[in-house]
Amino acid sequence: LVSRDNHPERSTVRVGGVPIGPGTVTLIAGPCAVETPQQTLEAALMAKAAGATLLRGGAYKPRTSPYAFQGLGEAGLRILADVRERTGLPVVTEVVDANDVELVASYADMLQVGTRNAQNFALLQAVGAAGKPVMLKRGMSATIEEWLMAAEYVAQRGNLDIVLCERGIRTFETATRNTLDVSAVPLAQRLSHLPVIVDPSHSGGHRDLVLPLTRAAIAVGADGVIIDVHPHPEQALCDGPQALVDGDLDELAQVMEHLPPLL
Ligand code: PEP
Repeated sequence: LVSRDNHPERSTVRVGGVPIGPGTVTLIAGPCAVETPQQTLEAALMAKAAGATLLRGGAYKPRTSPYAFQGLGEAGLRILADVRERTGLPVVTEVVDANDVELVASYADMLQVGTRNAQNFALLQAVGAAGKPVMLKRGMSATIEEWLMAAEYVAQRGNLDIVLCERGIRTFETATRNTLDVSAVPLAQRLSHLPVIVDPSHSGGHRDLVLPLTRAAIAVGADGVIIDVHPHPEQALCDGPQALVDGDLDELAQVMEHLPPLL
């Protein structure tokens, strides 16, 4: 279903009317985690000023440590819905448990499946049946074939509105959080008709790497990027070191404006 063999034209997925697909580079930005109404609104306004047309923000956070901030849950979803109302930005948010899919889908415009759940087949089937577009991150140790098969689980439930997201893979390198596999972008686009975006924030794990990796993503033909921003990253409850701050956003806007998509 997701193979390009039977569907030679590359697909465009619409999220609350915003296209992700060939011919555009969609900027999705916002806080890694929803923390407070004010923090989320400030991050969303920063994102919008930089050219973002979709808001990201996690209400359910899949943290490595059980002692780390786990997200606000439904209270976070309500904040996201309110910020969508104020900014007009449709919301992309992660769901980590098949039992929460219906609830998250009742607030979100796009459901995100994260790297740690990329082969959680029950979750993939549940998001496939939820009637909302899905962003499927690549498992941190998944091959491209495994990533596309995960997408097939979603598609099999009748949902072809799937966007693939390359977010870095595990390698021997520890200087970066993950290694951005730029070759995965054109490869996945050759094998599948689905749009492919890149997460330069979670791949590099460092603020200074986000803009160079964004340039790389656009240069290899990514259909979009998803970027963490935070008004006060030193106080962030999740992934502050990789969040862009106000001062970086003009540069981000320029990158988005001056690097047209490769058609
Ligand atoms: C995220 O985007 O908030 C996230 C947790 O990303 P990943 O699943 O790629 O680690």
